[in-house]
Amino acid sequence: MAEMKFIAGSVCLDFVNTVGARVTGRDIVLRDKLKDYPDLATWSRLAGLFTAREVRCLERAAESHPARAAATLARALRLREALFRISKSLLGRSAPDESDVDVLRNELSIAKAHERLVRTKTGFAWAWDQSDHALDAPLWRVSQSAADLLTSADLGKLRQCGGDECGWMFLDTSRNRSRRWCDMKDCGNRAKVRRFRRREGHR
Ligand SMILES: [Zn+2]
Repeated sequence: MAEMKFIAGSVCLDFVNTVGARVTGRDIVLRDKLKDYPDLATWSRLAGLFTAREVRCLERAAESHPARAAATLARALRLREALFRISKSLLGRSAPDESDVDVLRNELSIAKAHERLVRTKTGFAWAWDQSDHALDAPLWRVSQSAADLLTSADLGKLRQCGGDECGWMFLDTSRNRSRRWCDMKDCGNRAKVRRFRRREGHR
């Protein structure tokens, strides 16, 4: 399985980044990391959305209902690409496509239907209904995270990596708002090598 990375500072942006890269200016995904439902389940565990035991339940449910698992993955990818295009529009200070916002709205209304008000020791809290190991439970968290981000002041920290072949999104929480790369070890380092080569007269 492809390596999953969590560098965005936001669940929904880490979800957008479940691709090897995106080709600039075109809606092309390279090295998609969500190839099947188990990839989505594993990503959810690594993202800290579910415990290993919960993910095993999701995987077992997917094995018993392969057609539903495939449909859920298709929904996940549709949501991911809609979130990417919404983010890209916001970065370009243009209005996101209404059809993309509708994809998120639909996912959110499904998610909201699974929220439960539960008693805690000190009062009440929102929790997700997990009783039936719903295959789309990872999408509830992602769409909730997207709604949280879109309605928060953190949206102003949204950036896209400056790497040549990357396209990943993240929140720039650096003190002087100077983060340019998804990861200094990847795109940041490649850019450094390129600058060095130019200085040395290589091409
Ligand atoms: Zn990058």
